[in-house]
Amino acid sequence: MQTNLVQNKSILTRTSGYLQKVSSHSLNPYSGCGFGNSSCGEGCYVRFNSWVNRGRPWGSFVDIKANAADLYSQTANREKAWAAKQSQPFSIFMSSSTDPWQPAEKKYRVTRKVLQAMKTLPPHELILQTHSPVILEDIDLIEALSRNCKLRVHISIEGDREVLPGQPPPPSSVADRIQTLQQLSSRGIFTVGCLSPLYPLDDADRFFNRIKSAGTSAVIIDHFILGDGTSDGSRTKKTRLPTLMKNVLPESIHLSYRDKVVNIARKYLPVGISATGFAGNYS
Ligand code: SF4
Repeated sequence: MQTNLVQNKSILTRTSGYLQKVSSHSLNPYSGCGFGNSSCGEGCYVRFNSWVNRGRPWGSFVDIKANAADLYSQTANREKAWAAKQSQPFSIFMSSSTDPWQPAEKKYRVTRKVLQAMKTLPPHELILQTHSPVILEDIDLIEALSRNCKLRVHISIEGDREVLPGQPPPPSSVADRIQTLQQLSSRGIFTVGCLSPLYPLDDADRFFNRIKSAGTSAVIIDHFILGDGTSDGSRTKKTRLPTLMKNVLPESIHLSYRDKVVNIARKYLPVGISATGFAGNYS
């Protein structure tokens, strides 16, 4: 893993494409991801983003945006005004192309410093998304921020299997991620289990019941078809993920599988589908 300390020129990115429906801005405290060689890195929607990887193999690098918090403080009011001109709330998705609580966060605390800056200058809405229970080290800060803005935490859990046969280990166990949902929910924080991309489930009823029992507010179900930013999942089809999914359950590689799982999930929890779900709409 190559780690580089970098000084960025900006930190709040005005969204476009898929994310435009979700938030006015994205904020990535890191570039690259220390979980890139774990199970989720396999079908990671970012691995082919040449703007991020600049020719470097996904999972081999992480750029630490050391001045992220300062940049936030310097530009939040300007970006809030820009969002207002678009008749939008100033809403931030953190993060669209990295994990804010990846291993480097333990040492560099870029994410924590950004959240501290947000306490002074809160956005209207904040969406935090991670695969990692390390988020719990910031639970007091997140709880405090949730009183200043509309905040929700997405915990990524693609399915109820630890890995699909042939995948490397996950960033953290399914049980640890459900426990993370439970701890955040117990503090009154709006929590969302995020099945993105949806993997073939072993026992969907049992899985959604476990997520519900953790106090989770909603789930998002997102298939790699449409979810990876292409209409046919062609970005993901360049990876091994569809084959690994097909080996477990052939129907799981079709969009109809998402709809089948949505119907099961709705027996337990409000469900958001793909981009609409990321935008906070559940039914
Ligand atoms: S944690 Fe997120 S950004 Fe990192 S490799 Fe996994 S899916 Fe990609």
